[in-house]
Amino acid sequence: MTVYADNAATTKMSRRAIEAMLPYMETTYGNPSSLHSVGQAAAEALQRARETMAGQIGCQAKEITFTSGGSEADSQAILSAAALGEKKGKKHIVSTAFEHHAVLHTLDRLRERGFEITLLDVHENGVITAREVASAIREDTCLVTILYANNEIGTIQPVSEIGAVCRERGVLFHTDAVQAAGHLPIDVNRENIDLMSLSAHKFRGPKGIGVLYTRKGVPLTSIIEGGAQERGKRAGTENIPAIVGMAAAFEEACEHMEENSAKVSSLRDRLIAGLSAVPHSILNGDRERRLPGNVNFCFEGIEGESLLLLLDRAGVFASSGSACTSGSLEPSHVLLAIGRPHEIAHGSLRLSLNEENTPEEIEYILKVVPETVSYLRSISPVWRDLECGKRKFML
Ligand SMILES: *Cc1c(COP(=O)(O)O)cnc(C)c1O
Repeated sequence: MTVYADNAATTKMSRRAIEAMLPYMETTYGNPSSLHSVGQAAAEALQRARETMAGQIGCQAKEITFTSGGSEADSQAILSAAALGEKKGKKHIVSTAFEHHAVLHTLDRLRERGFEITLLDVHENGVITAREVASAIREDTCLVTILYANNEIGTIQPVSEIGAVCRERGVLFHTDAVQAAGHLPIDVNRENIDLMSLSAHKFRGPKGIGVLYTRKGVPLTSIIEGGAQERGKRAGTENIPAIVGMAAAFEEACEHMEENSAKVSSLRDRLIAGLSAVPHSILNGDRERRLPGNVNFCFEGIEGESLLLLLDRAGVFASSGSACTSGSLEPSHVLLAIGRPHEIAHGSLRLSLNEENTPEEIEYILKVVPETVSYLRSISPVWRDLECGKRKFML
């Protein structure tokens, strides 16, 4: 048996999205900037996709800018708000310590340009409060940027409360909603969101395409120069097949959100209950405020990388944190941010599910993971020290 449980890294495309794309590669392959009818047919598809994306998050079509994905949308949102702030002499930004690297590394760049960045503490449960955001906002704050839902531990932030605080204080609010979109209902007006990043491949659309929602009146700074595409804010011929595929996938995900969420969260709960029985283990992230498909545990006395390799051999495809951190030996910045010690953070496992997973797969994971953890502990010198009392158990 093989089980794909790494849907927070990327998803298998949906059939509906693939089929929606094919005509835009085979017949309607024109450039939307061309004046002839093949180009104009592509331009119409572009407009329809823009309207579909806008309709699902409650904004206007012209507030949608297509980007190459979540990373570009995050960078452009933050750099645009920073440019606006700089003009007004406001060079302070509020964020959290457990953002995606697309946000954290963009903030690093701004710090080099003289911006001051406050990274809020996310506490052990991985959730911040609107009150904490409010007390971090200063006279010179130009932006609050906070993850809607965390990609590693799945915790969901009180976005509408944070949005209300930002609105009241006249500060722009950006949220990276890449993990939330298609999985949780989002309404940019109800939630007072000014800028928001989405990425298609996290909701069963194609890779390399995303959206930056920008509230009317908030000017974007181009980070790619060239033609006048996307109202002059993002040069380059539009990737029509990918844009059409994203819109189809998003519409499908939103249509089935309730039933998928019910199904996936019951699989998640079964998995959490089963893995909680492994001795010296701990669930990462709040038990209630978490994405329907996210399970993240630390197991004391093992290395996450070894666990992943053995799970791969057993046909279970998972992750130890974000796809970007895997492959480096640094423990996850998210697990460190919620206060896990280095040794514990190293023994992490993220299983991210979607509606394609089955109860049989969950039972298989529940057989393989505890066995593999026991095996790794049986050959670990650290575990031997723990068992004979030379070291103290932390979990
Ligand atoms: C995947 C991800 C991104 C990056 O999106 P890409 O489309 O892969 O660039 C950004 N933020 C979060 C929370 C993500 O999960």
